[in-house]
Amino acid sequence: MAVKKTYITTSIAYVNAEPHIGFLYELLAGDVLKRYYQAQGKEVYFLTGTDEHGIKVAQAATAAGKEPQNFVDEVSKKFEQLGKDFNIDFDYFIRTTNPEHQKFVQEKWQQLESAGVLKKKKYSGLYCSGCEAFKTEGEIEGGRCSVHEKELEKIEEENWFLVIEEEKKKKIEDWINFSVYPETRRQEAINVLKSDSYDEISLSRSKERYGWGVPVPGDESQIMYVWADALFNYISALKINNKEDLWPADIQIVGKDIVKFHAIIWPALLIACGYELPKKLLVHGFINSDGKKMSKSLGNVISPHQLVDRYGVEASRYLIFRGLSFYDDSNFTWADFDHLYNGELANGLGNLVARTIGLAKKINLRPDFAKEHPTSGSILDFRHDLIELNAWINECDQNISANKVWEETESKRSNLDGILRRIWTIAGRLEPYTPETAKEIRRQLTELDSKPLFPRLEK
Ligand SMILES: [Zn+2]
Repeated sequence: MAVKKTYITTSIAYVNAEPHIGFLYELLAGDVLKRYYQAQGKEVYFLTGTDEHGIKVAQAATAAGKEPQNFVDEVSKKFEQLGKDFNIDFDYFIRTTNPEHQKFVQEKWQQLESAGVLKKKKYSGLYCSGCEAFKTEGEIEGGRCSVHEKELEKIEEENWFLVIEEEKKKKIEDWINFSVYPETRRQEAINVLKSDSYDEISLSRSKERYGWGVPVPGDESQIMYVWADALFNYISALKINNKEDLWPADIQIVGKDIVKFHAIIWPALLIACGYELPKKLLVHGFINSDGKKMSKSLGNVISPHQLVDRYGVEASRYLIFRGLSFYDDSNFTWADFDHLYNGELANGLGNLVARTIGLAKKINLRPDFAKEHPTSGSILDFRHDLIELNAWINECDQNISANKVWEETESKRSNLDGILRRIWTIAGRLEPYTPETAKEIRRQLTELDSKPLFPRLEK
């Protein structure tokens, strides 16, 4: 029997604004994991895309003086381009305005209806237009959304609800315990699940009020809630590409702000539709800038292209995982990134490779690298993986100095041979993070042709 491909997804980016570093974070994590598993000999299918419905998108289109469809066409392209600019090797880019996706979610809606888990009822609650969600007591601070600090709107309307029975909750809880990573998010998800507000989840909105969305089959007054539509992208994309056998996903990567949608609503929808649940949900933290949440008004937003302008694509890919802690909230500063760039890439790795190749060239030492086996690090803990790798680089440097490897004796020769092999292995482990640099290091080692890998930053 053929081995199933490893299926990795990011969340899909909401197109109400320009691409930001948070989405890049997920794209890169997915790409690093894809390249890592490929190096282990696995086949991988990697999905990303854009979430194009919802009130915030409609409002952003109006503000830009455009029809929603034209607006999302333009913005979606920028997200896809961001992936290409950062050498992200995704296999498909799903857009939720794709008619085939919409047809798929309408079929799933009908399936939920026949399963008897949908009911229509009048509902009144406090709504945050920033979250596009009704807020529960715990999510409100002083009458405002605790995420957006926005004043909440009291809304009363008739909507469709997904009923999550106790038995289903139990299943979801068991799944969370084994599948949500890291631990802190696991506990958070279980606490939310156990609160009464998750017995029923609103899955539709009034069409009159929210216009831009997928029509609810058989009910002209309603459109689907943007999350009910968006979550199904992970399977509709497979259907569109005739790859439904790849479900369940092996790894789904999401931000901490959307854990409850992926750890509760998504499994509830999947169970109701008879699908298996994803194997792993990786939840990343937020990137703050200069100690504060990034915001336009504070002027501290870091755009992906600023990173490329300063460090180039390869070094940016490295620095994001080395300088930030993926699962926790991290603080970005240019000074920290500059320091890591000069210390670990320009000096550390760059110098080691140049120096070692220089020594090998003098005595024309060319090890047979074909015998080197790839080694793997602690890939899910990206930062730790790179810190460990950096320690290897330092050890090689120390080895060269301590053993005076530049002296041309037989024992020094064997020592240098070992260091060259070690660098070959380092290149292998760097490959998921910096694929082009890894390739270049291998070329330099094979041809004994040294060229600078990372030029020092100018002030
Ligand atoms: Zn909010």
